[in-house]
Amino acid sequence: MLPRLLISALLFAFVAFAGAFPHIRILNEGDDACSKEKIERINQMILDAKNLASSANDTLYKPNVAKSSGFVALFGSNANPIDIANKHFAPFNMTPDVPKFVSSVQNLTAKDLTFTCPTYGAPKDTTARMSTRNWDDGDDGPDQRNNLIRIYPSSFEYVVPDSTGWHVVDTLSVPTAVRAVIAKTWFDEKAVPMGFTLVHEMQHADAFIGTKNHCIDVKYTNTEGKTVKAYGLQQAQRITAAPKVVNAQNYAWFAFLYRTVWVFPDK
Ligand SMILES: [Zn+2]
Repeated sequence: MLPRLLISALLFAFVAFAGAFPHIRILNEGDDACSKEKIERINQMILDAKNLASSANDTLYKPNVAKSSGFVALFGSNANPIDIANKHFAPFNMTPDVPKFVSSVQNLTAKDLTFTCPTYGAPKDTTARMSTRNWDDGDDGPDQRNNLIRIYPSSFEYVVPDSTGWHVVDTLSVPTAVRAVIAKTWFDEKAVPMGFTLVHEMQHADAFIGTKNHCIDVKYTNTEGKTVKAYGLQQAQRITAAPKVVNAQNYAWFAFLYRTVWVFPDK
């Protein structure tokens, strides 16, 4: 049986998103199509993201979570946990486990959200793992309008630290990432499971999260005086409270850490 609070969270999600929730699909033909292998990986990514979001929801509905050190570190002391759960994690409950396919990104509507797989050579192919395009982005003309989650080749391969330096793997499961976190062989944003990145990316996707809840990549000036995006766990915690709740990465860290190494209630 589901706990009562969780049921109310699910009901809220259903009421809030019924009629507005996008059609989520994977492009499987033409330019930027996802291959059969990549589609399998995308399906696993969606399951991982749904599990991460669901445990974030459970944590956020626990009494006094707003006073826990993990919550304060990532969202500040004035954030409302139920609000965060409903706006940023509950939409994952509505996401289909296995999306259907679409053969073209032309002539889609503002209610469609499509996963595409650009190859090497596409803009941002080496600088981002994924990027989100919203309906109103750019000025390429109405026929170019669409909502996309672009999954670049670097999402499908990882450089993982090991005792002799590093090695490349093509998948990184949540349990493997957790073992690395616990062993402290890896604890940053460079090698995160695709599901982690999807929790982040969906915070940028207006069709999914709602325009009002749109998150950005907050900039942070590091100790060397260099301005970087606050992706790392330390940076995510060091930015001030107001930017914390609009930084997409803080949602990904919260979901990942409470699923894995942080335990609630903490001190
Ligand atoms: Zn981002």
